Amino acid sequence: MNRLRQLWHYLDKVFDLSVLVRQVRDRRVFPVIPAPALHFSLLSGALLRIPSLLDLSQKTRGPGWQRLIGHGPISDDALGYALEHGRPEDWRSVLATVNRTLKANKQFERAKIGGQLVVTLDANEQFKSRSRCCPGCSARRIKIPSPQGQEQELTEYFHRQVYAHISGPDFCVILDLEPIGPGEEEARAALRLLGRLRRVYGVRFFDVVTVDAWYATGPFLRAVEKLGWGVVSVLKQERYTIYQEASTLAAHQQALCWEDQGRHIQLREVRDLDFTDPALGKLRVVMADEAWTQTRVVGGQRVPEPKTSHWRWLTSPRIDSLPARVVWQIGHQRWGIENHAFNELTRHYGLEHCARHDPVAIVVWLLIRVLGFVLFELFAKLHLKTVRLGHQTLQDLRDCLLLALGRWEELEALWSG
Ligand SMILES: [Zn+2]
Repeated sequence: MNRLRQLWHYLDKVFDLSVLVRQVRDRRVFPVIPAPALHFSLLSGALLRIPSLLDLSQKTRGPGWQRLIGHGPISDDALGYALEHGRPEDWRSVLATVNRTLKANKQFERAKIGGQLVVTLDANEQFKSRSRCCPGCSARRIKIPSPQGQEQELTEYFHRQVYAHISGPDFCVILDLEPIGPGEEEARAALRLLGRLRRVYGVRFFDVVTVDAWYATGPFLRAVEKLGWGVVSVLKQERYTIYQEASTLAAHQQALCWEDQGRHIQLREVRDLDFTDPALGKLRVVMADEAWTQTRVVGGQRVPEPKTSHWRWLTSPRIDSLPARVVWQIGHQRWGIENHAFNELTRHYGLEHCARHDPVAIVVWLLIRVLGFVLFELFAKLHLKTVRLGHQTLQDLRDCLLLALGRWEELEALWSG
């Protein structure tokens, strides 16, 4: 069967995706091109990892695309205009429906750690520019050498977003993303994101939020606890007395020790510690000291080199009963998730590309790219045996889908106007 046709069959069968995309509205005042033609083009562009609006516009000239989308060629300007006049809430709703379906189909069960479904929050800088500016731009002063060799200071504009994701052993999904406003702190945008997750997905959708060290503040922990989730946060040495106190008290404790993939791990926990915010009550710190040997090649010789790492995590009261070893697993899983989702999104989905410099267009573009990433992952990793068994890479699959687009007579229209 034609792979592209198979992809859309799968997405329709499992998620009713064509119906969902047809329901996405826009805010264009005098629309010339029907919204579904634009929206199916933008989403198919993300699914097929087409990097820019210009490339996408070129694709819309092909017979395969036109048969699939049911419309003639679309200019990059028309696609950009559709992004600017898009409705982020409608695209978020498509993404949420996909994730809720996965949850209902028990696909997140394998992603649980010690019975807990964990959401990771992370920020990503999308792009920077020295000349362009929109009302959503953040700005910073930077110093660069001038052509005359002197240092000059200028303003750099940039956009950042916070992402919420769940990672499993075989796929990862993104639940939502939120732009960080001009001059705004990351944690503030993260709380706005969590507030929306609670409204859209409900408090029971997941159990724990894991964050990096700069979120470890009293107000943030208290707000997440109030929303109904526990927090595991990285704790950095330089920030708090709680770090020192935990280390001192732990020195007298018997550690839990084990070997994991060549690493020797010593785990300790100290409870009932005071944090900066008394209203939070007593907190727990979980400490992992890890040692392993890494081989380095020096002058053609393999030299074993001892390595160590020292992790400290702060856990909020709601997850006091979670065993320290589960906290360790949650803390470590952060890195895998971050690498896989952001690497893929950056390399293949133009996460750091600005398709249209406008605050609405940026969010709509990112939501569609994220949707493309999630759906492609699910099709490849849950549905296709060739990928699951390692006979085909994701990039091979993408090439295969583009070839399938060339066999236009095998394709069917996604909607009829
Ligand atoms: Zn901007």
